[in-house]
Amino acid sequence: MWEVQKMEVLEVARWMDEKGLVVGTSGNVSQRFREPDGRELVAITPSGRQYDTMEAEDIVLVDMEGQRVEGELAPSIETMLHLGIYRARKKVRAVVHAHAVFGSAIAVTGKEIPCLLDDQVTFLGGEIKVAAYALPGSPELAKNVVAALGPRNAVVLANHGTISVGRNLREAFNNCELLEKTARVYVLAMGLGTLTPVPADMAEAERAFFAAMFGEN
Ligand SMILES: [Zn+2]
Repeated sequence: MWEVQKMEVLEVARWMDEKGLVVGTSGNVSQRFREPDGRELVAITPSGRQYDTMEAEDIVLVDMEGQRVEGELAPSIETMLHLGIYRARKKVRAVVHAHAVFGSAIAVTGKEIPCLLDDQVTFLGGEIKVAAYALPGSPELAKNVVAALGPRNAVVLANHGTISVGRNLREAFNNCELLEKTARVYVLAMGLGTLTPVPADMAEAERAFFAAMFGEN
């Protein structure tokens, strides 16, 4: 069942791999959807599998408590992290977790990226915060990531990688690429000298646009 939802998750996982946003079997992708009876399910990539040989039937379905309801393989080790975000953010229907290079450089500094670019503020929601360190797969990591993500669409995981979210998979993937581009610009610009953030009043206008588009209320 739910072949379309599984295929979509697989497609985005392959994009992530092909664009070099993950290394080996790292990273994971999920989307949330609703069954006709109203139950919410999450289709998520399996644990420890190569993306190039992954097939739609390898994508695992879990309920909102993390119980596997379909699939032979174990779901991603970060399943509880994805579920924590879905519980906290009602409009979010897709989550992409990557280990991209420039986002990971920010993850090592532990310092948030200020509001540097118009598209960053408009589509990611402003500054990009770094969630406090916790072990991969731990409940603490889910808690720290939900707190640092807040109402925004992207966050960095200290000493680990990045998370981006969206109202659908394409949006979550676009946000993954936008986060990596922003981190790359930040690293390059720091080598050129003093940084000039987006003017404060313009950033406010862009945040208002973001809130109208992606806000929970
Ligand atoms: Zn990871």
